[in-house]
Amino acid sequence: MPPLQEPLSRAAADIPLVPTGLDRAAHHRRDKTWLDDAIASDSAQILLMREGMPLVEGSAPPSGPMQIGARLAPGRPILWLGAQAAMLSPKAQRLFLGETVKGSPVFALELPASFSLDSSPIAGLGVFEDFRAAASAFSPFEGGAAATARALFEWHRRHGFCANCGTRTMVEDAGWKRKCEDCGAEHFPRVDPVAIMLATHNDRCLLGRQAAWRPGFWSCLAGFVEPGETIEQAAAREIFEEAGVRCTTRADYLFCQPWPFPSSLMIGLILEADGDTINIDATEIEAAKWFTRQEARSMMAGTNPDAFAPPAFAIAHHVIKAWLERG
Ligand SMILES: [Zn+2]
Repeated sequence: MPPLQEPLSRAAADIPLVPTGLDRAAHHRRDKTWLDDAIASDSAQILLMREGMPLVEGSAPPSGPMQIGARLAPGRPILWLGAQAAMLSPKAQRLFLGETVKGSPVFALELPASFSLDSSPIAGLGVFEDFRAAASAFSPFEGGAAATARALFEWHRRHGFCANCGTRTMVEDAGWKRKCEDCGAEHFPRVDPVAIMLATHNDRCLLGRQAAWRPGFWSCLAGFVEPGETIEQAAAREIFEEAGVRCTTRADYLFCQPWPFPSSLMIGLILEADGDTINIDATEIEAAKWFTRQEARSMMAGTNPDAFAPPAFAIAHHVIKAWLERG
């Protein structure tokens, strides 16, 4: 069977951070000899991370963490390194991401927080940049690889001890598993499903905003799927809990996006609302509002003086766009 190298859904091909052009080649994960040879080979491609920040091209100082809704900088592409990157720190954690279409092995290394770029052999070649600040310049391949690496490194950082017995666990399968040597339990990376959706009614769509966001920024409502419910039920429940709007008739799944902050899978939907009366839960959101197509269109175009939309980097942008295209 040929390896899967492209998104299965055509719609998903436009969504940033969806892995593209990377065969995970999971059959290599337990072959330590193959992995050691692959990372030392001339064709190895290695991306570096430190505390969730990828190493990107350029020498300008990195921007710090941003307020949600802040205007994004142009971004910077990943600085890919070769086999010599594996020599930078004996404490780096190694993750095998897969193989490119041409068969080059792709790895990510997480350097310890104490790693100093300035006193390393790669000083001056790049900087560690906030993921969101850099990501708008990532190619589809880079976005998928970096998002996968960040999600796994975040998982390792937060799951160092066995949930069954409390003993420290060991990394296995080239970074894709942790195992407890005391009780034998195996632990696999977690993915947290999040429904992110638009309720629609009479040709208007419902958007909300949180108090901490930049003024004027509106986005889709969203929330975690809870145990024992479907994605559609979670979407309808969250809209009711946050905005007091019932949706019982129809929910359409659109597409999804891996979102490594730290381990979400954002699942985009459009739902039909039963009515348009809003009653917000002020502990969750600051405001909710129905937007006409014209208002939403001008917001997406950047010409609405009162509201601006999520960036193309976020799935919310594509959910709103999908509704507008349904016209
Ligand atoms: Zn254990």
